[in-house]
Amino acid sequence: MSTPSPGKSLNEAPATLDSLPVSVLHGVGPKSAERLATFGLETVQDVLFHLPRRYEDRTRIAPIGGLRFGDHAVIEAEVDLAEVKFGRRRSLLVRVSDGTGSLLLRFFHFNKLQQQGFERGVRLRIYGEVRRGPVMLEMVHPEYQRLAEGEAVSTEDRLTPVYPATEGLHQLTLRKLGEQAVSMLAAGRLPEWLPQALLAELNFTDLVSALRYVHRPPPNADVRALEAGVHPSQQRLAFEELLAHHLSLRRVRLRARHLQAVPLNRSSTLLDAFYASLPFALTAAQQRVVRELQADLVQSHPMMRLVQGDVGSGKTVVAAAAAIQAVECGCQVAIMAPTELLAEQHFGNFEGWFDGLGIRVGWLSGKVKGKARGQVLESLAAGEVQVAIGTHALFQEEVAFERLGLVIIDEQHRFGVHQRLALRDKGREGQKVPHQLIMTATPIPRTLSMALYADLDSSVIDELPPGRTPVQTVVIPESRREEVIQRVREACRDGRQAYWVCTLIEESESLQCQAAEDTATLLAEVLPELRVSLVHGRMKEADKAQRMAAFKQGDIDLLVATTVIEVGVDVPNASLMIVENAERLGLSQLHQLRGRVGRGAVQSSCVLMYRAPLSQLARKRLAVLRETNDGFEIARKDLELRGPGEVLGTRQTGMIQFRIADLMRDQQLLDKVEAAAIQLLEQHPGAVKAIIRRWLGHAPQYGQV
Ligand code: ADP
Ligand code: MG
Repeated sequence: MSTPSPGKSLNEAPATLDSLPVSVLHGVGPKSAERLATFGLETVQDVLFHLPRRYEDRTRIAPIGGLRFGDHAVIEAEVDLAEVKFGRRRSLLVRVSDGTGSLLLRFFHFNKLQQQGFERGVRLRIYGEVRRGPVMLEMVHPEYQRLAEGEAVSTEDRLTPVYPATEGLHQLTLRKLGEQAVSMLAAGRLPEWLPQALLAELNFTDLVSALRYVHRPPPNADVRALEAGVHPSQQRLAFEELLAHHLSLRRVRLRARHLQAVPLNRSSTLLDAFYASLPFALTAAQQRVVRELQADLVQSHPMMRLVQGDVGSGKTVVAAAAAIQAVECGCQVAIMAPTELLAEQHFGNFEGWFDGLGIRVGWLSGKVKGKARGQVLESLAAGEVQVAIGTHALFQEEVAFERLGLVIIDEQHRFGVHQRLALRDKGREGQKVPHQLIMTATPIPRTLSMALYADLDSSVIDELPPGRTPVQTVVIPESRREEVIQRVREACRDGRQAYWVCTLIEESESLQCQAAEDTATLLAEVLPELRVSLVHGRMKEADKAQRMAAFKQGDIDLLVATTVIEVGVDVPNASLMIVENAERLGLSQLHQLRGRVGRGAVQSSCVLMYRAPLSQLARKRLAVLRETNDGFEIARKDLELRGPGEVLGTRQTGMIQFRIADLMRDQQLLDKVEAAAIQLLEQHPGAVKAIIRRWLGHAPQYGQV
């Protein structure tokens, strides 16, 4: 369409597009160049890699009679009637028809002039999404254009790309920039970083053709393939994007090899004493993982290892073994957990284990204040406390260690890469950093781990301690509450304990706590013979801790809670878990909750209550939990049903916002991505940097170690 303005025209020997600033594009002055830069669009290449998210078909005029809701369509119709309705919201309703049917246009924002434009008989070209309205199909705030008498406006001759736009960066601007950038594309103007042999092997087109195709699909484009994201041009780009992510993580890992760490040699006195003090023997899987950790820790470069183990597989003991090795070598250990409750429980465990070994364990959370805080900080800085346990508070600026040798992070999926690196840097002295151990009970399917955790080595505790009976799960509607209460009554009469977890639609924590309070009161009334107690996030720490301790000791029969108890809480005598509004929680979260029971030898059960009606998807998801107790299987299913962002939780989603790739859809590319990454790192280090820059820009979470 538009070409670069003459004043800024390009010379005969054109620079490659990755070195041309956006300001060479028509309509981009210094001001807007600055603004575009804040969106990561600095060069023409950046514009080219800002890829369409979907396409709109404006090539054909659709008859109204053939529209279905959900369609995006262009129609041409005449105005029958226009009126302003004063309902809950003032709106302008315009009924149009084209001889095959009628449709309502609905505007909430409009001015007088606009309103007057809709005279009866006026002909319009309209583009929008078809929705189901109360009376007939509707379009809300469609784009429209008035057609003059007898005027014939041609339709678009190709699919219209829709770019990811945000406030301050409009669709139309992006389309114009995209058009221009594409018109500048020519062989040789954009470096091809994938080796020829690889392109040939995978049957991929060259970069320039692929970009041209996705930005400006030709009139005869395969619309279905494009919409599904499986057109060869899209796949070619998705491959390169996955490669960029994978490379950046591999680079983090490689760089870590050049960092140094204190080798933590093993002398077995304390460790043997520790094992002897435990009431059980480690499982074979635990022993194997401990050996893997030990082999890492003796190295003079930092361990970066992820330990995955299903809920209840016994990760804590494994972490303790690693901590002991560090302490024996005169180093400090920091153990970070995502919630106060969980951190506190670790504190209790470690204190119990380590006291007899002469190891000092300290506690730090945001709630430790004043003098107590001063004391903890002092003893950490002086190296008197050898093992520090806490929450995020551990990596705040004021916290200093004397000699931090090992960082352990529990339930990693709740922390971002940043937080993980911040804590590690606490112990950094020049090129020397602490070893890192990351533990998670959210099993990470291979597809995800390749894209997200390729910077870590990985160990799996793939065995549960002996004597556990699988939890039986039932899914029942809330209307059968009475039955559920009866179950609680029976379990507790038999000397067991139960959890009752309240969740709410509202995001608000205070409302959630309120609901839990109400439920606790109610249950205490209908179950007068039981000792009922309550924990939620808004309670004083001391109260919460005291109630948890009472539950653990068996002084409480029924514990009503919010999802604060989701991770890690360990009370083996509890055999019944009730979860309200289960349909609102993620599968992994439900699996975690369920993992609070089934920790002893008795048959445990989990009741997932839902509020009817259940959507098809919700039904499927809950069925997964009923059918399996295998956390890996659940995570895989969840990924299939909901996609990676949901599965890992919001904190991680920022990291996996792909421009064109889709981890589920493009799984079959991953093996090839890995092979290509290895090859490029060995043979084309220059390309590695360029590919990462092209796809990830200067995203802070990558690249830095
Ligand atoms: P998770 O992997 O979910 O963090 P924990 O470390 O909390 O699991 O362990 C769950 C429970 O299993 C704890 O009560 C722990 O003491 C116990 N446990 C750990 N390892 C073993 C084992 N080898 N044999 C028996 N019980 C074990
Ligand atoms: Mg745990």
